[in-house]
Amino acid sequence: SGKGQHSPFTLYKTELNKYSVQRLNLMSELKESLSQGQLELYYQPKLSIDENQIQTVECLIRWNHPEHGFIPPDEFIPLAEQTGSIRHVTHWALRAALKQQNLWHRQGYDIGMAVNISAVDLVDMKLPTYVSELLSEFHVEAQMLTLEVTESAIMGNPDNAMKALNTLRRMGITLSIDDFGTGYSSMAQLKKMPVDELKIDKAFVLDLAKSQEDQVMVKTVISLAQNLGLKTVAEGVEDAQSLEYLAAIGCTKAQGFYLSRPLPANKFEDWYTQFLE
Ligand code: C2E
Ligand code: CA
Ligand code: CA
Ligand code: CA
Repeated sequence: SGKGQHSPFTLYKTELNKYSVQRLNLMSELKESLSQGQLELYYQPKLSIDENQIQTVECLIRWNHPEHGFIPPDEFIPLAEQTGSIRHVTHWALRAALKQQNLWHRQGYDIGMAVNISAVDLVDMKLPTYVSELLSEFHVEAQMLTLEVTESAIMGNPDNAMKALNTLRRMGITLSIDDFGTGYSSMAQLKKMPVDELKIDKAFVLDLAKSQEDQVMVKTVISLAQNLGLKTVAEGVEDAQSLEYLAAIGCTKAQGFYLSRPLPANKFEDWYTQFLE
C-alpha cells in the first residue's frame, strides 16, 4: 500500500512525530527564554596578530534551558532560522552585545563586538534601523560593531545580500564573511561584496600545523583577501604552531581555544586583565 492510501489524518499523525513536536516545543520556549534570562552571550577574543592586541570579541550565544540544560547554538539557531524566530534571537544578541560594550567602555576597555547574523536577517528590512537605534541607545560607535554573515548566507542570494550589506556598511559597521571556504563564492562576486574581512572556517585551521593541504588552502585565501584589500581572521586556532604559521603568512587576526575559549562576561574580564599584564 502506497502513501496515496493513507487518509490525510494518518499522514498527519505519522509525520508530526515525537521529534518534530519536541522541536516545535523548543521553539515556543525559545521565545520565552528571550525574556527570562536563559540566553547569555559568551565572548571569544580575536587577536590582532601584528599588534598583539585584542580589538574585538566575537559574541556567541548560549541557551541554558531550565530542564534540558545547555543547548548548543548549532542545535537551536538552525531551528530558529526555519521557524522565523531568528529575528528575535538576533535582536536579543545585538542588544546584549552593545549593552556589554557600553559597560566595558565605562570600565575603560574599548572592545569591539562581533555579532553573528543569519541569512534571514539580511532580508529583514528593519535590521539597519534597529542597529542604529541600539548604537545610539548604548553610545557605541558604528565601527565598534562587526556583523559576521556566513559565506553561504551571502551567496544564497548575492544581490539581496549586497543591498543589505551596502546599507550596513554605509552606516560604518564592519562586515565579516564567516565560514569562508565552505561556500562557493566566485572571485567576481567577492570583489563586489562590500565587506572588510574574511573569516577562514575552522575546518581549514584546526590541523593547520600538520596538514599541508590546509596550509595551501589558508595561504590561498589570505593572498586572495590581500588582493581584494580585505583583512583575514583564522578561527579554530588551537596551538602555538598554527598561530606562528598564520603570523608568517600574513593573516590579520587569530581566534581559537589556544588563545581563549568563549567565556561569560566576568570570566572574559579576568582573561583580558591577565592578557594586558
Ligand atoms: P561560528 O560563528 O562559526 O562560531 C565559531 C564556533 O567555533 C563557535 O562555536 C566557537 O565556540 C567555536 N570555536 C572557536 N574556537 C575554536 C577552536 O579553537 N576549536 C574548536 N573546535 N572550536 C572553536 P559555538 O559557540 O558553539 O557556535 C556555533 C555556531 O552557532 C556559530 O558558528 C554560529 O554559526 C552560531 N551562532 C552562535 N551564536 C550565534 C548568534 O548569536 N546568532 C547566530 N545567528 N548564530 C550564532
Ligand atoms: Ca562567527
Ligand atoms: Ca565558522
Ligand atoms: Ca558557523
